[in-house]
Amino acid sequence: MRSFVHALPKVELHVHLVGSAGVDTVLELARRHPEAGVPTERAELERFYTFRDFDHFLKVYWAVQSMLKGRADIHTLVVGLARELARQNVRYAEVTVTPYNHITDGMAGDELLAGLESGRAEAAALGVDLAWCFDIPGEKGLVAGRETLAFALSERPDGLVSFGLAGPEAGVGRAQFAPFFAAARDAGLHSVPHAGETTGPETVWSAVRDLRAERIGHGTSCVDDPALMEHLVLKGIPLEVCPTSNVRTRQVASIEAHPVRQMLDAGVVVTLNTDDPPFFGATLEGEYLAVATAFDLTPAQVATLAENAVLASFLPGGRKTSLLEEIADVLASAG
Ligand SMILES: [Zn+2]
Repeated sequence: MRSFVHALPKVELHVHLVGSAGVDTVLELARRHPEAGVPTERAELERFYTFRDFDHFLKVYWAVQSMLKGRADIHTLVVGLARELARQNVRYAEVTVTPYNHITDGMAGDELLAGLESGRAEAAALGVDLAWCFDIPGEKGLVAGRETLAFALSERPDGLVSFGLAGPEAGVGRAQFAPFFAAARDAGLHSVPHAGETTGPETVWSAVRDLRAERIGHGTSCVDDPALMEHLVLKGIPLEVCPTSNVRTRQVASIEAHPVRQMLDAGVVVTLNTDDPPFFGATLEGEYLAVATAFDLTPAQVATLAENAVLASFLPGGRKTSLLEEIADVLASAG
């Protein structure tokens, strides 16, 4: 199964740029910005980076964020992610970037865009195509929604395909962001909010109804509402499921207890993703392997998960067709 999962050409649809920073990348950033106080020696950094609990995860996350000062840092981050994706035979990823956080931290918008652009070019040379989702950090309120929309629409960088919403869900209603999503959709960006990760199915309903979500980030709690599951199936709205992330943040007790089984049984379009991979000790290959093992999936069922991600992506039709053909070939040679 391990070599089969590796051979499948994969697509990642839910990964946060800052949350994708691995030890090599952070080491480079820490040595460039020693004033940030992040360990500059590998062994010490690896200890700092080992997942302990959610509070420590946030501490590491904001430490990485604090070292992102300009285009070179963004470039380092993007290329580090691309190398890791290439290593796992991931061919395409839609990467979530939060411009509002970088800009309020003092980075010029042009610096952010230049780093994304040069990083994306280097990723393509490594065989990994990257697209961007610009998302609203929901906890920062309407001003973050307004600024994120304005930045996305005025800059409209190459590869920007979607508009998202992340951060805590409790007390941060999805509906208040509806005008920003409407404007983003009118401008041709796809709607991909997080919902139902840390709150119940009503948040997923709101994402679908108020934000016209085309995919749902997580959506884990949909299994508590059969009518919602039916709606997701009927409308073909895929879920970006991140099993290890859900275990690490204690939304579910274990991979075995993850509701992905119920989602699959109900016919919901499930895609597997990593969220903030090195922080959670996750890899995309690891997610496929963990789910395949926990739920005793056949190679054909695992290949379907890879196909789901291709179909749920915002790749052009021709690229989807060629990736689907390649997945079919891998499955045929495994049989
Ligand atoms: Zn996420």
